[in-house]
Amino acid sequence: MTTQPQLENLVAIEEQYQVATYKKFPFVIERGQDVWVYTSEGDRYLDLYGGHAVVSTGHSHPRIVQAISNQASRLIFYSNLVYNDARARAAKALVEIAPEPLAKAFFVNSGTEANENAMKIARMLTGRLKIISFEGAFHGRTPGSVSATGLARYRENVAPLLEGHFFADFGNVASVESLLDEETAAVILEPIQSMGGVFLGEPEFYQALREMCDQVGAMLIYDEVQTGMGRTGEFFFAGVHGVVPDMVSLAKGIASGVPMGALLMTDAIAGEIKTGDLGTTFGGGPLACAALEATVDVIREERLLENVRENSKYLFEELTKLAMIEEA
Ligand code: PLP
Repeated sequence: MTTQPQLENLVAIEEQYQVATYKKFPFVIERGQDVWVYTSEGDRYLDLYGGHAVVSTGHSHPRIVQAISNQASRLIFYSNLVYNDARARAAKALVEIAPEPLAKAFFVNSGTEANENAMKIARMLTGRLKIISFEGAFHGRTPGSVSATGLARYRENVAPLLEGHFFADFGNVASVESLLDEETAAVILEPIQSMGGVFLGEPEFYQALREMCDQVGAMLIYDEVQTGMGRTGEFFFAGVHGVVPDMVSLAKGIASGVPMGALLMTDAIAGEIKTGDLGTTFGGGPLACAALEATVDVIREERLLENVRENSKYLFEELTKLAMIEEA
């Protein structure tokens, strides 16, 4: 039996037994409630970081806790080889908040897995290799996603990167036009760039991407791992400016912190995917699905989208008054 470590020792223990790949804040988070986190020293922090943009309904929201605890006592896990009530409800809930023609969900475990599957599907169904993404983009750490990531610091020391990846300038239609052709399987973008800086395109940029992709038969993929699930004041950026992509990758906040990813796609795409083309052991597990369904319910019933819109407006107005804050 392992002995319970003293709180003071926890930093040392993590340092000793965990791979040192993260730059950590120098404190131990013991618990979270709503927008607050509490440290072992008894300090309370307003969590503007949201556990890495994950805690979409606040820390340990009672309805999420109830949903996962009920589900855990009935069935923690079963694979996709059986039907399951939690999975059925989660898929329905997710598709119902997505704009048409997004009509089907494939559940995975993380953002990078959702992106890997999106690019795999685009290549598989078009029979083309070329993927266009953007300078400054971040799509994840696994080989395909990092090959589509346009930030040098994530690509360094990753060899080999996959072939067929090209980078356009974000927000620049002409730059995409110069790369896009009938060899292109997909254009993938974060509709609002994240790790590269918070960059948005003009409405015409997204509209042009949709038109240009349709013209050459390429798929348009939105990586909404960060922008999804209410973070912009809408459930998704898909649908904004009248543009709906062919696929949307999701993770982070979709299940309030229970690890989960998803790929939304049109019926047309889903209809071409055959049994065995895609798969994952844990994706769509009942525990994560229960958390996803409860997350959608909380966002809706507690009017969190309206809350995001109001608070964003207030924060933007007030923060831009501070002299120390500059636009890069
Ligand atoms: N895409 C975007 C926009 C992200 O911000 C991230 C993670 O930060 C990912 C993909 C990768 O997600 P994950 O860390 O769940 O694999």
